[in-house]
Amino acid sequence: MAAKAKPRQDAGPVIGVDAMKALIMDVPDFPKKGIMFKDITPLLADPKGFNSVIDGLIAPFKQKGIEIVAGVESRGFLLAPAMAARLGAGVVPLRKKGKLPRKVHSASYDLEYGTDSIEAHADAFARNARVLLVDDVLATGGTAAAAISLIEALGGKLIGSTFLIELAFLNGRQKLSGRTIHSLLTY
Ligand code: AMP
Repeated sequence: MAAKAKPRQDAGPVIGVDAMKALIMDVPDFPKKGIMFKDITPLLADPKGFNSVIDGLIAPFKQKGIEIVAGVESRGFLLAPAMAARLGAGVVPLRKKGKLPRKVHSASYDLEYGTDSIEAHADAFARNARVLLVDDVLATGGTAAAAISLIEALGGKLIGSTFLIELAFLNGRQKLSGRTIHSLLTY
C-alpha cells in the first residue's frame, strides 16, 4: 500500500530557484512566431514547486497588511487564491473584456503578442484597500501597468506587484518605475 503523503508543516520555500526553473518548459513560437512561451504548468503541478511558488510570491508582503490579492486573467487566477489564503486576504479577479456581469471599469494594454483590455467590477475595492497584484509573467509591463491603473482608479491602495517570472530583457520594470516589484525567477 502506498504511503500517504505527509502534509507540509512549515511555510518556508521547499525548493530553490534553480529547481523551480527546471520545472518550467520553454515553448518556442507560441502563441506566435518569435515568442518563447514560458509554460509554468509543470511547476504548478509539482507539490513542492507550487508551494514554493506561493511562499516566494508572498514573502516580502507578509507583514504588509494585504487585504486583497488581485490576480490577472488567466494565469494570475492560478496564483492569487492560494496567496490570499496564506495572507488571510480576499481575492479580486482582473478579467478579460466582457466577462464580468455588473458595472465595470476597464484599462487597455499592449501584450508582448497583441493588445487586450482588463476589467474589474466598479465596486471591487473598498476605498484604500491594501492590494497586492499578481501575474505569472512580467514581460513588457503593459499588462501590469494597466492592472495598476485599474486598481488605483477604483480606489485601491497598491502595496506591491509580484510575479513568478520576470523577462528582464523586455524592461517591464521601467514601465512600473517607482512601484514595489517582486519577481521570483528572472530570465
Ligand atoms: P506584458 O504585458 O508584456 O508584461 O505581458 C505579460 C502578460 O503576457 C502576462 O499575463 C503573461 O501571462 C503573458 N506573457 C507575456 N510573455 C509571455 C511569455 N514569454 N510566456 C508566457 N506568458 C507570457
